[in-house]
Amino acid sequence: MEAEKPGIVSAVEPVSLSVFPTALIQGEPARITLDGISDISNIESLALDGKPLAVFADEGKVAALVGIDFHKKPGSYPIVLTLKDGRKIEEEFEIGQRVVATEEFDIPEQLGGNTPQAEHELTSTLSRDAAILNSVTTIIGPERLWSGEFRLPLDGSLTVTDTYGYKRQTGSVSLSHQGTDFRAAEGTSVYAMNSGKVVLAQSLRNFGNTVIIDHGLGIMTMYMHLSEIGVEAGDNVGKGDPVAKSGNTGYSLGPHLHLSVRIGGFSIDPMKFLELMGPK
Ligand SMILES: [Zn+2]
Repeated sequence: MEAEKPGIVSAVEPVSLSVFPTALIQGEPARITLDGISDISNIESLALDGKPLAVFADEGKVAALVGIDFHKKPGSYPIVLTLKDGRKIEEEFEIGQRVVATEEFDIPEQLGGNTPQAEHELTSTLSRDAAILNSVTTIIGPERLWSGEFRLPLDGSLTVTDTYGYKRQTGSVSLSHQGTDFRAAEGTSVYAMNSGKVVLAQSLRNFGNTVIIDHGLGIMTMYMHLSEIGVEAGDNVGKGDPVAKSGNTGYSLGPHLHLSVRIGGFSIDPMKFLELMGPK
C-alpha cells in the first residue's frame, strides 16, 4: 500500500485566476489574483498575450499587476498561468477601447508660440526626452521594493487639473498626455509614493526637472516639472520620503505636479493605479 503524499494532494487543488477590474481598458492597470496557490515557487510563468508578468505574494494571495499598453489593439487576449507541475490555466480577457478626447493646444509663448519653428523644436526635443525616459528600465528585476498601499505624491487630497490619455493637438503635432496633472503651488513637497530606488533625477527639456523611482516588479513612478530635485540617481527612498518640490519647469503652463506611473514599461492612468493600489 502506498503512503499518502500530502505534497501531491495540495498540488492538485483547483487553481483559478481572476482579474480586477474585470473590464480591461487601453492605458489602465489591472490586478490578477491566483486562487488555489499559496506557494509562489509553484508558478512557472504567468503571461498576458505571451508577455510575462511579475508575480508576487501579498496578504496570503499570489497576484500580479498588469499595465495595458495605451496602443494595445482592442480584442480578446489570453492570460496563461503555467505551473511547475505542468498544468496550464488559460482564460481569455477582453481589452476595450479607451475613449480619447482631443484638445487644441497652443505652444506657450515662453517656448516660441505657435510657429512652425517652435513646433519643430517641440517635436525633436520631445522625442529626445522620450528616448531618455524609455532608456530608464527597471534595474531591480523581479525584486519588490514596495509594500502595502501606495500613498499620494502630495499631502492632503489631490485636485486633478489634467487627466491621463487625452490628445493635445498642437498644429500638426499630436501629443498624448501620459500622466495626470495635480494642482500644486510652486515649492510644494513631493513624496515618494512607496519605497524604491531613484533611477533618474535630472532636468529634461520638456518634462522639466524629473525624478523617477523604480519600486521593483516593473512599477515606476515619475514626477515632473519640479522646481527642485532632492534626490540623486541611485538613492534608496522610503514611502513618504520627500524627493522634490513641485514647480513649473519645462513645457508647462503653470505650477503643477505631473505624475506618470508605468507598469511593465507601459504608462498607465495614475488615477486608476491609485484606485487599485492607493489609500483605501
Ligand atoms: Zn502633465
